[in-house]
Amino acid sequence: MFPASFDFYRAHSAEEAVSLLGEHGADSRILAGGQSLIPAMRYRLAQPTVLVDINQMQAANYITEENGELRIGATVRDSDLEFSDLIRTNYQLMSDVSDVVADPIVRFRGTLIGSLCHNDPSGDWPAAMLAARAKMIIQNKDGKRVVNADEFIVDSFTTAVEEGEMAVETIWPTPSKNTGASYQKIERKVGDYATAAAAVQLELNEDGTVKEAGIGITAVSYVALRVAEGEALLRGQKVTRNLIKAVAAEASKMADPIADGRGSAEYKKEVVGVLVAKGIMQSLERLGRKVEA
Ligand SMILES: Cc1cc2nc3c(=O)[nH]c(=O)nc-3n(C[C@H](O)[C@H](O)[C@H](O)COP(=O)(O)OP(=O)(O)OC[C@H]3O[C@@H](n4cnc5c(N)ncnc54)[C@H](O)[C@@H]3O)c2cc1C
Repeated sequence: MFPASFDFYRAHSAEEAVSLLGEHGADSRILAGGQSLIPAMRYRLAQPTVLVDINQMQAANYITEENGELRIGATVRDSDLEFSDLIRTNYQLMSDVSDVVADPIVRFRGTLIGSLCHNDPSGDWPAAMLAARAKMIIQNKDGKRVVNADEFIVDSFTTAVEEGEMAVETIWPTPSKNTGASYQKIERKVGDYATAAAAVQLELNEDGTVKEAGIGITAVSYVALRVAEGEALLRGQKVTRNLIKAVAAEASKMADPIADGRGSAEYKKEVVGVLVAKGIMQSLERLGRKVEA
């Protein structure tokens, strides 16, 4: 099916994009990689009357690390992250996700920020954003505001980005040397959305106890979830088999999936706990640590 007709504008700066969004109101949308928006328009699930294309916004195409933070602009594509030495070396969770989100063709167009703004309940990036305690900078005509992951991810396909606003930058804290992470995703085939997935990031103290834990799960509820109770169980503790089981159980308890072609609700609820457990174990392994007896 062809999309409904729309007007097309090309913005060369965030200020220009925000001005166009303000001028055209609720029916205008940013066009980033187009990998979610264009299919939605073709199926008439979305019918924006105005598209504001940001793909020529050169200044938005950056990945920079400074002062303990990674800053990523609005036109950075999944493939830029996938093939970045900086990401591969210093950002294990992001590196894992960028290897498995969608397929290589989609990754060459789709943007990290577009994916976060789309906020598909089965999307990979929202779970990672929660686990990594990332933030989003949102710009409107009055200036910029910073929003934490927990506030950014609001509901299915809904984020803190409001009418007339553009997400201009996402900020991911640089993990310390004592941080291990892992993204565990079950998919029916390469390029499919997750049947269930878990993002785990663990920072350890020198004695091997957990200093900070981040756990996000996706495809098992109406929106990606942070497993806060599981994180609290880990904090300050040595990671034992029993503790991993307890954290996995917290993830399964929170999950409220629907049955579909990818599996029954019972299966997804169970398997997300297994993925969290695997994520914790791989995070430790990557730090050269073992699960305590
Ligand atoms: C075949 C296929 C398989 C896929 N598989 C997966 C998968 O396994 N896992 C997964 O997570 N995703 C998957 N996706 C989705 C894909 O990753 C999309 O690229 C991504 O969700 C959207 O990124 P985009 O840059 O293409 O955004 P667009 O499609 O351009 O935009 C998506 C939405 O976000 C808004 N938006 C974009 N950028 C901004 C901004 N800077 N500020 C404000 N709003 C903005 C748009 O207005 C639109 O509403 C798949 C897509 C396809 C086509």
